[in-house]
Amino acid sequence: MILKKLLFGIILLVISGSLQAQNVYRKNMVLMGSAFDITVVEKDSLQAVKYIQMAVDEIKRIEKLISSWNQNSQTSEINRNAGIRPVKVDKELFDLIKRAKLISQITDGAFDISYASMDKIWKFDGSMTRMPDTESIKKSVAKVGYQNIILNDTTHTVFLKLKGMKIGFGAIGKGYAADKAKQLLIAKGVQAGIINASGDMNTWGTQPDGTPWTVAIVNPLNKYKAFALVPVSNKAVVTSGDYEKYVKFNGIRYAHIINPKTGYPATGIISVSVFAPQAELADALATSVFVMGIEAGLDRINQLPDVECIIIDEKGKIHTSKNIEINGKKLEKN
Ligand code: ADP
Ligand code: MG
Repeated sequence: MILKKLLFGIILLVISGSLQAQNVYRKNMVLMGSAFDITVVEKDSLQAVKYIQMAVDEIKRIEKLISSWNQNSQTSEINRNAGIRPVKVDKELFDLIKRAKLISQITDGAFDISYASMDKIWKFDGSMTRMPDTESIKKSVAKVGYQNIILNDTTHTVFLKLKGMKIGFGAIGKGYAADKAKQLLIAKGVQAGIINASGDMNTWGTQPDGTPWTVAIVNPLNKYKAFALVPVSNKAVVTSGDYEKYVKFNGIRYAHIINPKTGYPATGIISVSVFAPQAELADALATSVFVMGIEAGLDRINQLPDVECIIIDEKGKIHTSKNIEINGKKLEKN
């Protein structure tokens, strides 16, 4: 599945600048349980390998901090102490949670890191055989609500007010990691590159020949085909799709993104791509648009400066925010 995601997520067109002194170096790897792809522009191959390793180490460091799988992470400690006591965490994690709460506010709660207490109900790994019953779905949202994530700015403590509450960074962590890895490489003097965190990408600089990086957005109806080539300079693009992670009951396709208010997974949309200055924001917004739906989602995106989005609905129809033009507003399977 990870390999598939490598192929399907977003295809990068990387042109090697063989005539220039600078070259493009690229490496695939699995990080944060997903396929990552790191590209740097460098003169020297050994140096490029070192830079890529620095990015890898940075991503692993972040994973250790935010993973809710790793029992030793600060995030797990917050979750273990839900309803019991506030937990002091690193400022970095504290700030990430604070920004996540802000995104909850601007998306009217469509985005909510405390969605995580619902993960017992819905499984998107093929193991679900029937729709959960209405009663348990209703019960599952009882512990969800970003308002109950209590932050103390002075002590940097995080307190989940209700017992059984849980937070998870599935919809923002990869974007954050892409931003941080980019920042680090810029600080080390790398002129240009791309961090592609399984479809969450952030770019800087240009290709060695001076042309912008180009990102191909995949046709969700046919994963082998791109439907749009978009130049991206110093910007993030994140695609959230339900290509693999969805369940289908009675002909309805449920995405792995859950509406925190109803407890039901989002329906009707199969892919959302968001363009924004940071991958973290783009990542969180892509998830939010799934929940908000086409109309409310586009409306909100249109109110945010420097943010654009492309939505593909389950019939293959393309919907775009106001500053994006795409020829042929309907996708075909082949
Ligand atoms: P992907 O991981 O496929 O790139 P997303 O970035 O949209 O997709 O993240 C989806 C993940 O976010 C889910 O697998 C789950 O862990 C988490 N999630 C689901 N619903 C929500 C929500 N409403 N708010 C925040 N996180 C969510
Ligand atoms: Mg996301």
